[in-house]
Amino acid sequence: MPNSDTFGAVEAGGTKVMCALLSGPDEILATARIATTTPEEVFGEMAAFFRKGAEKYGEPRGIGVATFGPVDLRDPESSAYGVIMKTPKPDWEGANWQSEVRALFPRTNFAIDTDVNAAALAEIQWGVARGLENVVYFTIGTGIGIGVVANGKPLHGLLHPEGGHIRIPRSTEEQVEFAGICPFHGDCLEGIASGPAIEARWGRAAEDLPSNHPAWEVEADVLSWACINLICTTSPERIIIGGGVSQQESFFPLLREKVVDRLNGYVDSPEITERIDQYIVPPALGQNAGLLGALALLS
Ligand code: ADP
Ligand code: ZN
Repeated sequence: MPNSDTFGAVEAGGTKVMCALLSGPDEILATARIATTTPEEVFGEMAAFFRKGAEKYGEPRGIGVATFGPVDLRDPESSAYGVIMKTPKPDWEGANWQSEVRALFPRTNFAIDTDVNAAALAEIQWGVARGLENVVYFTIGTGIGIGVVANGKPLHGLLHPEGGHIRIPRSTEEQVEFAGICPFHGDCLEGIASGPAIEARWGRAAEDLPSNHPAWEVEADVLSWACINLICTTSPERIIIGGGVSQQESFFPLLREKVVDRLNGYVDSPEITERIDQYIVPPALGQNAGLLGALALLS
């Protein structure tokens, strides 16, 4: 039985899976960094971490998992809940977060969502979107993910938002020439604007492109359309953008300018027309956003 005041959090990404035991958002008791190899290896190391934690602190009250997608979130009562769906990640299709957690702690609370839905919730609870109920969270890194919280709840439906795969109008001939790298769609958003897409297109890693490189104009252009599409469809009160690529210093100013310019006054809200600097913002939770996202799923 859960018999402690600790919570387990798992943040599963394409490169690493972080596990933590926490007693609150500011109290991380232990962490483990596991390389994202095969599910067998990852689940084995995860189990060892949580077993050891339970010996010291007691069984956690809940375990939250913020994972890369696509993940089955359709029916919490179903045995398919928490299973990774069709994915280009080798070996991960069919990997089952729920059954692994249940095998460890059969009666503890289990919660799962996409990494980006979870991060949006964490930013609402403890970060840059405190008190808001409608928030969009982008991550632009190895892939592109878009989380949506609507009316205070992470958006689910057939699946969950897969905004990384929306299509984007191209502003120049030269942009049309790049075929994109998404294995499913070629030139979807992720296919043209993720870190690996930038590298494929310009021949250099995104972090090595100087802030005056034309790549950033193109990146801001593409992301401005993505923001506008999300503004016009989900009406967020704030857009948070994280991930490695967003750390480029010229990225936010260029992006904000293009969003305002291209919306052309249509969504006539002072958040956009007067306070765009506070409307499209980086996350506040930094390195811990993913783990705190997993924790936020349990509340
Ligand atoms: P992941 O998506 O694996 O969780 P990140 O969010 O760190 O990891 O994204 C990694 C991508 O971000 C890589 O493609 C890398 O080239 C790019 N990147 C990392 N740091 C920067 C930076 N300072 N400026 C621009 N791009 C960056
Ligand atoms: Zn795609």
